[in-house]
Amino acid sequence: MQPRPEHFDDNGSAWVQGKATDTPCAPLQGERELDVAIIGGGFAGVSAARAFSARHPELGVGLLEAKSLGNGASGRNGGMVLNWVNGHSSKDPEELKRVFEVTRGAIDGIAARAPEGAFARSGCLEVYTSAQRAEKAEAAAQRLAAAGVPVQWLDRQALGERLAVAGGQGAIFDPTAGTLDGVAYLRAERAALLERGVQVFEGTVVTRVETGERVVLHTPEGRVRARTLVLATNAWTPLLGFFRDGILPLHSHAVATGPLDEAARAGLGWGEVGGFSDDLDRISYASMSASAGLVFGGGSNASYAYQYGGPTVFQGDRSPGLAAVERRLGAYLGGAPPIRHRWTGTLGVTLSRVCTVGALAGQPNVLYALGFSGHGIALANLSGEVLVDIYDSETARWHGLPFFQQRLLPIPPEPLRWLGYQAFTRLTGKSPRRSM
Ligand SMILES: Cc1cc2nc3c(=O)[nH]c(=O)nc-3n(C[C@H](O)[C@H](O)[C@H](O)COP(=O)(O)OP(=O)(O)OC[C@H]3O[C@@H](n4cnc5c(N)ncnc54)[C@H](O)[C@@H]3O)c2cc1C
Repeated sequence: MQPRPEHFDDNGSAWVQGKATDTPCAPLQGERELDVAIIGGGFAGVSAARAFSARHPELGVGLLEAKSLGNGASGRNGGMVLNWVNGHSSKDPEELKRVFEVTRGAIDGIAARAPEGAFARSGCLEVYTSAQRAEKAEAAAQRLAAAGVPVQWLDRQALGERLAVAGGQGAIFDPTAGTLDGVAYLRAERAALLERGVQVFEGTVVTRVETGERVVLHTPEGRVRARTLVLATNAWTPLLGFFRDGILPLHSHAVATGPLDEAARAGLGWGEVGGFSDDLDRISYASMSASAGLVFGGGSNASYAYQYGGPTVFQGDRSPGLAAVERRLGAYLGGAPPIRHRWTGTLGVTLSRVCTVGALAGQPNVLYALGFSGHGIALANLSGEVLVDIYDSETARWHGLPFFQQRLLPIPPEPLRWLGYQAFTRLTGKSPRRSM
């Protein structure tokens, strides 16, 4: 199966709905010769375009996006810009410190580039919902702090001052994390890319890729030849014939209030904090920002879906999933506030949940940055730096990091894939996540 327009739906998230109409770049028409062709206009693709055009201004760089920048997960997320690598854990404080420093650098980069009001370094909480897990998390936070990672442990009372979340027994507070309006950010990045001479084509689905010394990208009205290809296509990657058994399209429902004034925030028990996630496998998360207000997602199996055959667009009735999200929000914050926006985004999930940035074995001119799943804002925005280092064969600073050339574990084909997802989610639906 090849990517067609129906594999991409319009972004109905609060990040888009609350903004003025956008003017995307024109679609590709005709033939183009490029040095570096990037497919995908989310954080990963834009980060690649930025890194290649900054480090190598002599290269012809082009980015092709099926809809408009930020139409995928990058414009539909929970807005929390978090440290760490999803799916990675370690007992070694020094290793954790190295991972933290890398992701912290990524957050600093976002903060430096974000347009006025799009990023806030308001800190985020990881809330623990059982006394036993809170005790372990407190010990972990202390070990991290001793290793120089600037996280703080908040007990129940201190947590309550920041966020009155029902069942919260304590939380790890990361003051370096924050919130990002990904759509505002990507629209500003588009202007910066165009200024640097990057060719951006929106409304341009790449329907077929021919690999070789020169890759050829086919689109409905044109064709691109390039020396190097970057796949930044997240959940859609298998449609192009790459990582068919490595990436699973997982749908994730979210809701938002739209902008809230101070009184409304206080009424929700929300103090000065950017967001929180909890310690359960069907993770709940929420953020508070000026442009989207309270964004909430997750919280139960019903709020995520893998559909048989792996469609990249959610098919069928979303209302039970969205209702489950709203119920969980009500349970956490003691009554759900009025919801104005409801949407679904698609994650590209790997079996280990760890993302990967690398070059294809045997095809070193095909680079990829994939699998950022539910924790990708910081890392997808960093991935361009890793890609250009791979291009330059200067990768020492990334060696040993969990996402660098991470080999993806094979996900079995259907029907085992669907059955496996059902069995896994039913078994782990309420279990605690692996602690750090
Ligand atoms: C509901 C939800 C909540 C989330 N919450 C958070 C959060 O709070 N914090 C966090 O860190 N992360 C969160 N995430 C995850 C985060 O948004 C992603 O990890 C990140 O945005 C991935 O970026 P990306 O560029 O890899 O993918 P995407 O943003 O999905 O971009 C891929 C792009 O490629 C394009 N594309 C694909 N195939 C083709 C083709 N053939 N031709 C042309 N274009 C193509 C798509 O249209 C898309 O725009 C959340 C995600 C969702 C869905």
